[in-house]
Amino acid sequence: MRIDVLGVGFDNLAMDEALAAGMEHIRRRSRAIVVTPNPEIVMAAREDPELRELLQRAELVLPDGIGILYGARLLGKPLREKLPGIDFADQLMARLAKEGGSAFLLGAKPGVAEQAARNLERKHPGLKIAGTHHGYFQEDGPIVAAINAAKPDLLLVCLGCPKQEKWMFRHKGELDVGLMAGLGGSLDVFAGVVRRAPPAFQKLGLEWFYRLCREPKRIGRMMKLPAFLALVCTQKAHAREK
Ligand code: UDP
Repeated sequence: MRIDVLGVGFDNLAMDEALAAGMEHIRRRSRAIVVTPNPEIVMAAREDPELRELLQRAELVLPDGIGILYGARLLGKPLREKLPGIDFADQLMARLAKEGGSAFLLGAKPGVAEQAARNLERKHPGLKIAGTHHGYFQEDGPIVAAINAAKPDLLLVCLGCPKQEKWMFRHKGELDVGLMAGLGGSLDVFAGVVRRAPPAFQKLGLEWFYRLCREPKRIGRMMKLPAFLALVCTQKAHAREK
C-alpha cells in the first residue's frame, strides 16, 4: 500500500527494491512509468487534478528528496528511504550496463543530452545510449518515432514537471520501451552542466540549500517547501482532532 503525503501516494521501498522493480518492468517491456515527486510537485498536484491523477497511475512513485520524508514522518507514516530520481536512474543504468542494456535520453537544452550520453557511456561501460533528443521540440510524432526506432530499455524524460509526466502518459500506449522515468533536470547533472550538491550535503538532507545558494533565482520555487510542511502540520492537527 502506498503512503499518502498530501494526496500523493508514495511507494515505501528501499533503493534496492525500487531498482529490482524497475529491472522487472524492463524485462517485461511493460512501458511502466516512474515519477519522482518532491514537495514542489506535491504542491503542484494539489492545484492540477490531471497531474494528481497521473501521479497516482504511475507504476512507481518514488520520494525525491528529504522534504517528502519529513512530511511522511510528521504524518506518522514514515517512508523508509529517500529515493532521488537521479540516483535511481544512475543505479538502474549501472545494472543495465552489466546486461548490455540501452537508454534513450530526452530533454534539456540542445547539446546537453549528447554530453550526458558521452558521460554515462564512460561511467557505465556496457551501457548503450540508443538515442538522444533535446527537450525543446514542437511536434511529438518524430520524437516518438525516434524512440521507437531505438527501442531502448529505459527512456529518461527530462522536460520538467508537469510537462514530462503528461508527455509520458500521452504516449505510453505507442512507445516501444521497457520503462520510462520523468527526471526533471537530471540530464543537466549527467552532462555536468549543473553540479549536484557534494555527498555531505546530500547525506544531511541539505541538497536543496546547496542548490539555492548556486541558483538563488529558485527561491520562489523553494518557498513551496515551507508551505508544504505547514500544510502537513495542519493535516496532522486535523487528524488528531478526529
Ligand atoms: N526542459 C525541457 N523542455 C522544456 C522545459 C524544460 O527540456 O520545454 C528541461 C530544462 O532544460 C531542464 C529540465 O527540463 O533541463 C527541468 O529542470 P528543472 O531543474 O526545472 O527540473 P527539476 O529537476 O527541478 O524538476
